[in-house]
Amino acid sequence: MSRKRFVAALMRHETNTFSPVPTPVSAFGRVGPTDGPARGEEAVRVYRGTNNPLAAYIDIAEREGAALAVPIAANAHPSAPAPDGILDLVAGAVLEAVGQGCDALFLDLHGAMVTEGFDDGEGELLRRIRAEAPDLPIAVALDFHTNLTRDLALLPTTLAGYRTYPHIDMYETGMRAGEALLKAMNGAAAATAWHSLPLMPHMNVHSPSRPPMQAIMDRASAAEDGGEVLLASVFGCFPLADIEHVGISAVVQGPADRAERLVLDLMGEAWEKRADFLFEIEDMADSVARAAAMSDGDGPVLLVDHGDNTGSGGNQDVMAALRECLQQGLAGMAAGPFADPEAVAEMIAAGVGAEVEVEIGGKTDMPAMGLKGEPLRLRGRVRRITDGEFTVTGPMFTGVRLSIGRTAVLDTGAAEVVVSEERYEPFDVGCFTHCGIDPASKRYVLIKSRQHFRAGFEPIARGIVMLAGPGTTTSDYSLFPWKKLRRPIYPLDPDIPSNLPSQA
Ligand SMILES: [Zn+2]
Repeated sequence: MSRKRFVAALMRHETNTFSPVPTPVSAFGRVGPTDGPARGEEAVRVYRGTNNPLAAYIDIAEREGAALAVPIAANAHPSAPAPDGILDLVAGAVLEAVGQGCDALFLDLHGAMVTEGFDDGEGELLRRIRAEAPDLPIAVALDFHTNLTRDLALLPTTLAGYRTYPHIDMYETGMRAGEALLKAMNGAAAATAWHSLPLMPHMNVHSPSRPPMQAIMDRASAAEDGGEVLLASVFGCFPLADIEHVGISAVVQGPADRAERLVLDLMGEAWEKRADFLFEIEDMADSVARAAAMSDGDGPVLLVDHGDNTGSGGNQDVMAALRECLQQGLAGMAAGPFADPEAVAEMIAAGVGAEVEVEIGGKTDMPAMGLKGEPLRLRGRVRRITDGEFTVTGPMFTGVRLSIGRTAVLDTGAAEVVVSEERYEPFDVGCFTHCGIDPASKRYVLIKSRQHFRAGFEPIARGIVMLAGPGTTTSDYSLFPWKKLRRPIYPLDPDIPSNLPSQA
């Protein structure tokens, strides 16, 4: 028997259609040393041994003794819709590799990618692949924030989604999708059932590690792990996108009747609990005052500004939360990173030790939200300048070498403010420790995140206070200028019936 040939590729972008941050093709190289997507051996070198589905695919190919081609790995940070050129590039590279002979294709995708021409970027990629390779076995790993469409559900052979948020099971998800594909190729039943609810949850309260999602995800995982079905995944969706198919969804593969029944059970439970997927928004000033009153205990109070979360497409330079903290007199604070290359350049020019007055952030307008950037003028001493490179030690993207660009620390007395050239959601303490700040020794740590901070920061915190700052990742869905979103949808249209088939 001749040696099997596998192809694996990665295309990931979570698109916030309201984001002012552009997404050129060159942005698709973020985890990796290159400007633009990684190719071939370089992609293998960057991803092997990391916590990513692609790393699992590399291990599966090695274990199976298969030849593996990785034509492209294109990963961009969340931001505005991507150019269609990225789809041309990825589809072209994958199809060229598949054309050279391929027994199975393994894709590491996001599931919430929007391009200028396609509201379902991953669906379009799969349509292009299926047009050339209608019978090719295809495994797909997806992010928990997938907005599932019919084509994305039905065109792969096997499909698995992350079970965690913060996402710490990416490698495992690749293993699940890949192993299931090998089983399906050996005859395991892999009929697909799927459903998408008109239910837009708040991302602060849809994590699978907590109610209400926990019981739903546990039920899916138990069915899959117990062998009742081949794969079962639930998606919390990515609501910050003005597209038709936003909504909590599920996809199950296995014997057709069981798959169908499980999907309806999972979605029925989610719909029943829909009110629990809503997040109460507290006024930001009240939240800061509440944090200021939490005086006892070791470790910092985390102040988490989720209205400008770069991990969901925020510009990461909205300064309202820091302004409020300083006005209320919080001290012993570490804050950042704020993305502002101009302020970094000014502080580098002044040099370590210099007293400076600098305008930080507020350089980006947010026209989709009707918001203008407002810089914060701060006076202080430049404490540290770094190249912004660190290796992740926490549980999310463990071992990955990251760069947040040149970084400067401004010490205002009350706060050590970290300013970097690149945007970065602080899921790992390295963004502070690499520039000489021990966040565990602070009274307060102000960061911009929603959920991923829990991976690196929750273990050191004595308290967590969520801040509803302004920005393009606000939890107040009534602030977004929706045009293409399906209506009715819960909670914007609170009294709607579900779209589940009636149980008559
Ligand atoms: Zn996600």
